[in-house]
Amino acid sequence: MTKTKVKTEKMEKPTLVETVCQDKDCPVHGNLKTRGRTFEGTVIRKAQKRLTISFERMVYVKKYERYAKSQTKIHARLPLCQEKNVQIGDLIKIQECRPLSKIIHFAFIKKIKSKEDLK
Ligand SMILES: [Zn+2]
Repeated sequence: MTKTKVKTEKMEKPTLVETVCQDKDCPVHGNLKTRGRTFEGTVIRKAQKRLTISFERMVYVKKYERYAKSQTKIHARLPLCQEKNVQIGDLIKIQECRPLSKIIHFAFIKKIKSKEDLK
């Protein structure tokens, strides 16, 4: 028996080349370390290097002994390499990091679903 070694060429990842960025606050390419809590939510606002996500949570109302829906908004850092990848309406995951500004303590980790997949 002769085993012929067939080297399967790995799938080229063009995104890998594109995603290398000079952003020092990028969790992948920069020095930013993420730790702590993670949240998932939909992107409701997007600007340069930053985005806002919102998600619903249940809050216990003691007076009525029931739960009420409450919406939470969180501002997060959007690395330069992901700027074109994320659109408003996408479901994304963010993780806590050191405070980057007064309101930004989270950084973009990954995209779970795009806007089209959620429909
Ligand atoms: Zn990057």
